[in-house]
Amino acid sequence: MVQHLVMPAALISIGSNLGNRQSAIDNAIAQLRGHAHIQNVVLSSLHESEAIGGPAGQDVFLNAAALLKTTLPASELLGALQQIENDSKRTREIRWAARTLDLDIALYDDQIVESELLTIPHPRMVSRKFVLQPAVEVAANMVNPQTGWTLEDHLIHLNQAAREYVVIAASENDKFQLQNAISENPATESCQLTFAVAQAGFDLPEIPDSTRLVIIVSPEVRQLCSPITNVPCSLPWIYVTNSTTSVDEILAAIQASQ
Ligand code: ATP
Ligand code: CA
Ligand code: CA
Repeated sequence: MVQHLVMPAALISIGSNLGNRQSAIDNAIAQLRGHAHIQNVVLSSLHESEAIGGPAGQDVFLNAAALLKTTLPASELLGALQQIENDSKRTREIRWAARTLDLDIALYDDQIVESELLTIPHPRMVSRKFVLQPAVEVAANMVNPQTGWTLEDHLIHLNQAAREYVVIAASENDKFQLQNAISENPATESCQLTFAVAQAGFDLPEIPDSTRLVIIVSPEVRQLCSPITNVPCSLPWIYVTNSTTSVDEILAAIQASQ
């Protein structure tokens, strides 16, 4: 009988900034370790970080990362994580609001998943120091299949790259609006921002290697026109949905990468 010789590895990003943060994380790890289809759970140390995005006035986060092996497919692993979140009385009324426990699948083996309920690698991981810092403690050499970079490469890049950002908008009008809102915001005061437009037949500007993050503001992430799909090449990029939340999302990504 053929058996799985190598069980898939998953990297879980953990956060809590409401209630007893440490015990919510301890409890989550205990539940993962007790799960019949999960093994070898390795937990990072706990890191404190200021809340970014969402309602103002939130308490400080406790962040961690856990590397584990599992026979659960990614979608079932997400179900198991959501069960653990629910046990900690996690609620979801407002995006990026304070939470007792947040468990995200950052990476699952070398899989790229884009379904309605699940996106892997976690789409905002490459811009978030609060995810990468604990992650490198347990999975420094794990590779992001979208960039080919290890997690350590990603963290070193965020720590060393200039504060240069390229924002690619879907139209001249969007570009104009984003430029006004983002350049004027105090959060980007020390940043160099370059704005470009992606539309049929356009030429991308030269994106310097020093760029910390390329932010692609796409109306429909999964229906990109071909010039935009060529952007994700040698630098970390994120997609941001083109909605009223775009500005907040872009500002949060820039702050998380500082
Ligand atoms: P963020 O995703 O920016 O970290 P969040 O963790 O606060 O924000 P949630 O409210 O916890 O967001 O999750 C919203 C939805 O994201 C979930 O219901 C889940 O279906 C979906 N999701 C997509 N990809 C992932 C992933 N890799 N890990 C966890 N949830 C995911
Ligand atoms: Ca999260
Ligand atoms: Ca989450």
